[in-house]
Amino acid sequence: MKRGTIVGILLMLPVAWTQAADQATATTVRDAVVNDMRSLVAGDKGPKIKPHFIPLPPGAVRPTGWLNDWARDAAAGITGHLDERAEVFKHGYKGYHFEARGVKAPGVGWPVEQCAYWLDGLVRLAYILDDPQLIAKARARLDLVVNGVNNGGESFVYWQPRGILSVEMDKFNGQFNNWAHSHMGRALVAYYQATGERRILDALVKVYRDYPLPEFSPVFYPVNGMVNLDAMLDTYMMSGDEKVLANALAAIRRPSFEKIVAQWNDGKIVHGHTVIFYENIRVPALMYPWTGDRKLLDATLATIRWSDERHGLPIGLVSGEEYLAGIGSTRNVETCNVAAGPWTFGSLLRITGERGWADRMERVFFNAGPAPIARDFQTMSYYQSPNRLSLSLPCDRPGCPGNALGDSYRFTDIGHPVLCCVGNSSRIVPNYIMGMWMATADRGVAATLYGPCRLRAQVAGGVPVEIESETAYPFEEEIRLTIRPAAKADFPLYLRIPAWCQQPSLKLNGQTVAVRKDSKGFAKLQRCWTPGDRVTLRLPMRVEIVKGRETPFPQDKYFTKRSLSRQTDVNNPFESVNYGPLLFALPIADETPDQPVKDAVCNYALDVSTTARNVQVLRQTLPEHWSWQLNAPLKLQLSARQFDWQPTELQPLPAAPIKDGKPATITLVPYGCTKFRVSMFPVAESKRSDP
Ligand SMILES: [Zn+2]
Repeated sequence: MKRGTIVGILLMLPVAWTQAADQATATTVRDAVVNDMRSLVAGDKGPKIKPHFIPLPPGAVRPTGWLNDWARDAAAGITGHLDERAEVFKHGYKGYHFEARGVKAPGVGWPVEQCAYWLDGLVRLAYILDDPQLIAKARARLDLVVNGVNNGGESFVYWQPRGILSVEMDKFNGQFNNWAHSHMGRALVAYYQATGERRILDALVKVYRDYPLPEFSPVFYPVNGMVNLDAMLDTYMMSGDEKVLANALAAIRRPSFEKIVAQWNDGKIVHGHTVIFYENIRVPALMYPWTGDRKLLDATLATIRWSDERHGLPIGLVSGEEYLAGIGSTRNVETCNVAAGPWTFGSLLRITGERGWADRMERVFFNAGPAPIARDFQTMSYYQSPNRLSLSLPCDRPGCPGNALGDSYRFTDIGHPVLCCVGNSSRIVPNYIMGMWMATADRGVAATLYGPCRLRAQVAGGVPVEIESETAYPFEEEIRLTIRPAAKADFPLYLRIPAWCQQPSLKLNGQTVAVRKDSKGFAKLQRCWTPGDRVTLRLPMRVEIVKGRETPFPQDKYFTKRSLSRQTDVNNPFESVNYGPLLFALPIADETPDQPVKDAVCNYALDVSTTARNVQVLRQTLPEHWSWQLNAPLKLQLSARQFDWQPTELQPLPAAPIKDGKPATITLVPYGCTKFRVSMFPVAESKRSDP
């Protein structure tokens, strides 16, 4: 039965809707959750500063085209099968003790963090794909937590008394459990949003009404349980339970919290662990809508500016060799950050409505997303780096090769003996898909992130609408939307115009209409929509050459044991190549994700003027099944200079622009398609001053 038919029956027989097909019922349940949030935002109990966007539940957006291929591979690979690969995922959150690295009786500590990362990704992907097996797997585990709490438990950590979250009881593990709890909280929010089952919301409300939020931390080590605020605030928005909000507000009225906000606003930010950095920095911004205190949002924005200037890499994330590690072509990014960074950017998008956060989410997803995950989604690695020339460059630090941490670069079925990243890798795809569309308080919807997908939501106060987004974006520039409301309906449709796009164009049913961006970078189309209306958005991309310089490792305790960190004069120039949201790289062909082909040639300096006039854009159709093939649908051909380049750990890029070298033409592919590559290029001097 076609979707339109189901909708028609629902409209005619509202009383009998619960007996309609499962899919239609599920959609209606999800819509009810969104409508509750919309009502709360709009009403007296809502935030002082109205958030611009309201997230949609898992399943409202379904991937199609190439994105569906990737999501299905995640389901058939790591995300769908992690419980078969390691004890942590087999036993985590079942409520008994088991043996694993970092575990403490009764099975808490590291495993509750790692397993919560996975379950959060699993439950989202399960409902996004409406996959019965994945849904059964997620429900079986999450129901233990929900039932445990509803039957008298006090926390999401094995439904134990809340003392298990307290530093007084156990300094390290108490802190760790409190942090892990926040990730289970997010999983349960998604589970409730997908199902609308009241018992899940009951458990969230019960735990978060008097949840022991810890003192916030000005530094980014160790982990901190204040990030429970994500799930707490969503719990409030879904339930309206005032004790939950009061608990959150009480935590930020502490003098220690105010001191941290002042400190960050003054730019007094110290290095720390990148995952904790990305998780903690959004905490003040999360509370901004509820207080109206602009200093809270500014504190978060200040930390992001600070980190981008000192540690920003072309993939849209800051470096993270566990700790923030400066700018460098062989600096690493821990895969946990590919999930954590966009979660924070997405929160800022919800709060501010600024398109720049969505631009950033796309940059991370399309580039940093696929790089540490094998093309079949069966294996992954802990680290990625902008340049990966061989397994030994970059190599594991400290003490390469074969460092004590384990093989941080090798692709294996669990990525690394420390299981955080393999857990978090399961969040990357579903969180992007869920963020592609968002609801707006004015009863419309916004296209926030692009790609092929199908949205089902309610607009105009209760009219079901389906919006089909047909595109190979980001491998093409055109996005074709077909809007199918169940009946004619007047509602606003917001389209994000990325900041990198200079000349967007828009057609409505074949007629060109002017693109009028609002101050947030969105074009609003408000009209009475008729089933079958078509909107075509063109986002012409252009080549952008970004210049930068490598910097020393931060001169702090964490790095001082490393010989590399003793270099304090690192200032090597580099250039990277962007095309729309994609970062491009010189590929080094691979036989496996850990084995580059022999004799690959990659000793080139980029030789393109800043106007990049001589770059050829090569296109071909997407392959039958998308798996981030090296033979990419979009390639760039540009001029370079081949020179004698012998990169080493201590000198990964030449110290100055190359003066000679042999003219050459090189072909770049999207960074996300590569396993070995150069994406932070040596620079040639010859054409620097071209117009
Ligand atoms: Zn990790």
